[in-house]
Amino acid sequence: MIRVYLGLGANLGNPKQTLLDVMDELRQADFVSQLSCSSLYASKPMGPQDQPDYVNAVVGFFTELAPIPLLDTLQRIEADFGRVRGRRWGARTLDIDILLYGDQTVNTERLQIPHMGIEQREFVLVPLAEIAPDLDLPSGNSVKSLAQSISHNGLHRIAPAPSDHP
Ligand code: ATP
Ligand code: MG
Ligand code: MG
Repeated sequence: MIRVYLGLGANLGNPKQTLLDVMDELRQADFVSQLSCSSLYASKPMGPQDQPDYVNAVVGFFTELAPIPLLDTLQRIEADFGRVRGRRWGARTLDIDILLYGDQTVNTERLQIPHMGIEQREFVLVPLAEIAPDLDLPSGNSVKSLAQSISHNGLHRIAPAPSDHP
């Protein structure tokens, strides 16, 4: 079993409810064990600014799925929540990015792990540090120190994590 961390984001429809629904779906999924969820955060859009603010969160779990089948599964979930691929970093009902897959590195055209934004994005580092404060990235950098030194861009907590044991 490999410990995986995902970044979740949404800014169309009902983003907060979408993220809570995705967390619920993952908790019940047969490829997911020991799910932990961060709080929900609001953040300013990255790239095009003429779109609503985002709701972001990070989840971690153990899985036996290999990286590509995991990506296929997550893209199916994005599509189920109505994701339509438009311009880069444009508005979306749901984005699920694989941040980390154990300490493995993947570098194919379709999949790069660690996710290339992981060390630069406040909306990834802060929720990741919440659920995995002692984690070190494959680069050797600690999540906690990266989260503490990232420049602030208006990220703020809007809702608690759903209970780990409903
Ligand atoms: P960003 O990746 O910068 O956050 P994005 O999430 O908006 O941008 P998407 O449109 O969701 O980008 O994905 C574009 C492609 O990125 C996907 O089709 C997928 O093949 C690829 N990709 C590469 N690495 C990853 C990863 N670690 N997790 C998810 N998708 C990835
Ligand atoms: Mg993304
Ligand atoms: Mg994505």
